[in-house]
Amino acid sequence: PALHKQRRQFVVDFVRENKPKKVVDLGCGECSLLKKLRFHHEIELLVGVDINEAKIKRYMHGLAPISTDYLQPSFDWLSIELYKGSVTQRDSRFKGFDLATAIEVIEHLTPADVEHFSAVVFGYMSPGAVVISTPNSDFNPLLPGLSGFRDRDHKFEWSKAEFRSWALRVCSEYGYEVEFTGVGKALHSQHDSVGFCSQIGVFHRLRVRDHHNTFSDDEEVFSYTLLYHINY
Ligand code: SAM
Repeated sequence: PALHKQRRQFVVDFVRENKPKKVVDLGCGECSLLKKLRFHHEIELLVGVDINEAKIKRYMHGLAPISTDYLQPSFDWLSIELYKGSVTQRDSRFKGFDLATAIEVIEHLTPADVEHFSAVVFGYMSPGAVVISTPNSDFNPLLPGLSGFRDRDHKFEWSKAEFRSWALRVCSEYGYEVEFTGVGKALHSQHDSVGFCSQIGVFHRLRVRDHHNTFSDDEEVFSYTLLYHINY
C-alpha cells in the first residue's frame, strides 16, 4: 500500500492497542486520519488543528456523519472539533489528551519552530502519548529520481541519527520515553540498515516527571480558532 496509507494504518493500529479517549491530530491537513479514527469507538473526543484554514474548510465536511452512522445502534458518543492554528503556539483546550499525532508535519517547520513545537506539544499539552512521523533522509538514495528534499515545502529531512537525537533531547527535557520505528521498508534486505522510508517516534509520558514547562500552567490561552464542531 501507498506510504501515506501505511502511516495512517500505523496510527489506527496504535489506537486499537492503546485505546485513547481523547486524540488530537496536529497538522491534520485533509483530515484523512481523523476520518479513519472516528470509527474507533473508544475515542470520545477527536480534534484536528492545521495552520491552513482553506485546507480544513475544503475537507471538514467529510467528517459529518453519514446518515447510516446514526442507525448503527452500537455507535458511541463522539465529538469532533477542527481548529485553525499553529502547532508552535499553545492553546489551553489542547491539554489533557491521551494521544497527539503529528504525521509528516515537523519537517515543514523551521528549526526554531521545531523547538517551539517541542515545548508546546511535550511541555505544555503534555499528552499521554505522542506519535511523530517524518521522512528518513537515509532512505532518500533509494528513492528513484529524487534530488533534494521529497517536498518543496520541507525545511529539512532528518537522518535516523538526527531524528533520534532530537527525540531523546525532547524526552529528557519533558519527561517522555521513545521507541523508534517506521513504515516503508527497502525492497532488498541489503538496504535494511537505511531503516524505514518514513521514520516514526512513539513517545510515552513518564509517570514521575521532573520536567520543565516554560509556560505558566493555570493561565488560559486561546490562540486557535474553532472552524468546525460536530457531535455524533
Ligand atoms: N498530517 C497530514 C497527513 O499525514 O496527511 C498532513 C501532512 S502535510 C504534508 C503537512 C501539514 O502540516 C499541512 O497540512 C500543513 O498545513 C500543516 N502545517 C504546517 N505548518 C504548520 C503549523 N505551524 N501548525 C499547524 N499545521 C502546520
